[in-house]
Amino acid sequence: MICRTPGYARKFRCIADKCRDNCCIGWEIDIDEETGDFYSSVSGSFGKRLKDNIRDGCFVLGENERCPFLNSRDLCDIYITLGEEHLCQICRDHPRYFEWFGDIKEGGIGMSCEEAARLILSSDFSLTETEIPDEGYTDVDSELYPLLLSARSIIIDKLMNCELADSVKYVLEFAEKLQDNIDCGILRLPEVTGTLPSSAPDMRGVFSFYQTLEPISPDWIPALERYSNIAGNAINVVPESDNELRRIAVYFIFRYFMKSVFDGDVLSRVKLAAVSTWMIGKLWQCRMHEKGSCSFEERCLIAKSYSKEIEYCEENIAALAEASYEMACFASSAIAGLF
Ligand code: SF4
Repeated sequence: MICRTPGYARKFRCIADKCRDNCCIGWEIDIDEETGDFYSSVSGSFGKRLKDNIRDGCFVLGENERCPFLNSRDLCDIYITLGEEHLCQICRDHPRYFEWFGDIKEGGIGMSCEEAARLILSSDFSLTETEIPDEGYTDVDSELYPLLLSARSIIIDKLMNCELADSVKYVLEFAEKLQDNIDCGILRLPEVTGTLPSSAPDMRGVFSFYQTLEPISPDWIPALERYSNIAGNAINVVPESDNELRRIAVYFIFRYFMKSVFDGDVLSRVKLAAVSTWMIGKLWQCRMHEKGSCSFEERCLIAKSYSKEIEYCEENIAALAEASYEMACFASSAIAGLF
């Protein structure tokens, strides 16, 4: 079996106690059955600590929603005492994500982790493939899958090699036409002719929509409210931030586009990538406007927060997918006009 990942994913190492938004704080962690059985078999004082701090298959979060095994130095006592191999599946995997297509496994690192965000923003995209032990076969449409794979390569290539606004416009038109083809049962790549109609962008409409989504951090909605008032006057960050935005767009396309093989919906996934890229760039600009600077580190933290708030909440991702078909501010031409 082949495992396909972006090159930067292999460089990922958790920065543990140096992390400012530790993923062992604020998340409910489900323990998989196999690991749960192992924890029940651990004896001695650590076994008792495990039993006392697990309820209904989850760790019982402590003060400020800390994992009960995150020690005062922000290191994991399960890792220290039992070893990495005895972390539960979620803790072992995070921030890695995986998806299976036939006999191909794809994966990467999610931007909701600040170290992953740093790698995503600073690395040019490349794909690596390695042989891994067989993990079974996930059925995919044998005609749609290769078509989508080719389409994703074209989109990523465009985003990596052309100016951001032009490539987003191209990619949106490409996705609109590809969606039409798929809906009509024509499994063929479309031609892009530069005919995406223009419509007025609605920055306020986009910000208002984001304010209706379920927040994770209490700071998120107040920041959006503040920023929606200054978004129109926000100033550009440094020129290299354009490269970082293109890498963010590619991250979203790589992660989500191929899921379309299961439901035939390419357009909402391309819009998710485009709107998320615009929104993160706009948040950087607003930060610049408000504080007078937006360093690389701050840009990574803002991208991380966006990912945590939007990408890591299934309801929010579903709401964006629905809005991408129903709201005028998410029409392809309106999104293109935002850039
Ligand atoms: S968010 Fe990332 S860097 Fe921070 S503790 Fe979790 S995996 Fe490590």
